[in-house]
Parts: sequence; structure tokens; C-alpha cells
Amino acid sequence: MLMLQVIDNKTALAAEISAWKKAGMKIGFVPTMGALHEGHLVLVKRAREENDRVVVSIFVNPTQFNNPEDLKNYPRTLDSDVKQLEAAGPDLIFAPTVNEMYPEGRIPEVPDINLGSLDHVMEASHRPGHFKGVMQVVAQLFRLVQPDKAYFGEKDYQQLAVIRSMSRQLDLPVTIVGCPTVREPDGLAMSSRNMLLSPEERKEAALISRALFYVRDNWNSYSVDELIHKATSMIEKNGRMKVEYVSIADSITLEPVSNWKESSSVRVCTAVRLGKVRLIDNVGLTTGED
Ligand code: AMP
Repeated sequence: MLMLQVIDNKTALAAEISAWKKAGMKIGFVPTMGALHEGHLVLVKRAREENDRVVVSIFVNPTQFNNPEDLKNYPRTLDSDVKQLEAAGPDLIFAPTVNEMYPEGRIPEVPDINLGSLDHVMEASHRPGHFKGVMQVVAQLFRLVQPDKAYFGEKDYQQLAVIRSMSRQLDLPVTIVGCPTVREPDGLAMSSRNMLLSPEERKEAALISRALFYVRDNWNSYSVDELIHKATSMIEKNGRMKVEYVSIADSITLEPVSNWKESSSVRVCTAVRLGKVRLIDNVGLTTGED
């Protein structure tokens, strides 16, 4: 039986990858920023089922943080991450330092990607530079890991769309697999940032998914604007949370729709501030699943 290896340098990673490639093995890859929870582990298990070898990366990528406080506070729990992964069963954890990923501070350029609408809606407009950083690190990790399949969560729906678009435009030889959002029993989407919430905030946070589920379950009784208004009031009702946006958007372009006839597949997406923490979530409306 193979042991789970934790590798922090590119040379050792390259040696493993090249041996696997030579043996004709299919490689599955799950990029993460650590502070792992069941949402991450589901991606790893899916990768395990569909590939010969599985790599998980754990790297808190500074270039995708537009807020230095958020980067400083982001939870880092490598020891417990490794323990959790031992059960989920990847073959290798790649956990580089910032200097290993970006020697002498050099950040590899991503060729010009035309993200179209994805570049100006929701997270793109509220977190300037965020997706540029995401593309930089994911493109770099793809170069190092050379995965056949890479697994991303629908929890970060716009990110998934951005990665798909980048992979298409660069003709990357990788299949991007999107996986449904894993939720806590009260509906809150699992997130590494949830551990930064106080117990009261954690309870309050359940209102976010409750509001999104309300939109999903009532879309044919109200207009788009009415439901955006209702969801916003539901989330903000106790005065603890502040909505950055609630958007009901086409599930491909993520452009907001103004009425239900505009698109047959829409998602309701939100970003919310709760104390020092910013949480995002989204739910599909027509599929009946999320
Ligand atoms: P992160 O560590 O937050 O960068 O997330 C790493 C990967 O796990 C991304 O593809 C996320 O979309 C995915 N992920 C995070 N939370 C969840 C969740 N609750 N359900 C499914 N996937 C998730």
C-alpha cells in the first residue's frame, strides 16, 4: 500500500508526476487552500474513484486575496488537514511555501484570458484582481501536477466557471469536474471561513442558505426583483449580516436576469459580510438540486 506523502517542493513533485505519467497513470487533482472540511473531502473521494493517482494541493495563495486582513486571518491547519486526508486517500499532498511557488516573488503570467461577463459580475466586481490570482495559481499548479481531471466545488460557482473558461481558452489537457456544494445540517455551505465565526455568528449564518432556498422554492410565485429584495431582507433581518449582493443570474454567463423568461437555467448567488468574515453561497433554481 502506498503511503500518503507530503511534499513541499516542486522538484520532488515533478519526480513523482513523471514516474506516474511514464506508467500511464491517470492523475486527479484537487487544489485547496487547506483548513479542510467535508466539502473538500468529497472532491478528494470523487477524484479517488476516477483516477489512478490523486494529488491534493494545500496553498493559501496570496495573489488571489484582495484584502490583506483576509489573507492574514485565513485559517492554516496543515497538521489536521493531513490527518483528514489520510482517511480520504490521496497519494500525495503538495503543500509548498509562497517562496517555492513564486521564487523571488515572481508570479507567472497567465496569457490573456477573455472572461467576458465573468470578469465584471459578482465576485469579479467585489474582489478586484481575485480571479487573476486564482487563474495564476491554478495554471501554475496545473503545469506542475499535469492532471487528467481537476475537481472544483460549485460552492465557488463563479470560480468554477472561470477555471472552465481558462482551460478552454488555453486548450489545457485537463477535464474540469464540478462537484455539488456540501452543507452543514442547518444548510450553511461548508467553508474554511466558517471556523472564523463566533458561535452566535455561526448560528446567524444559517439564514444565508435559508434565503437562497426560499428563492429556489418560490421562484414561480414572485418576480426576480421581488425575490432579490426578499432574500436580502431575510439575510439582513437581525442586523448582524450585511448583503454585498444577491444576484439571480444565468448559470453560464452569470449575467443577472431581470425576468424568469430570460434564461432556462439560473442560479441565485450571494456574498454576505458577517463580522469580519465574508461568506459566499449559491443555489441552482431550475434543476432542483444544488
Ligand atoms: P478552498 O480551499 O476554499 O479554496 O476550496 C478548494 C476547493 O474546494 C474549491 O474547488 C472549492 O469550491 C471547494 N469547496 C469548498 N467548500 C466546498 C463545499 N462546501 N462543497 C463543495 N466544494 C467545496
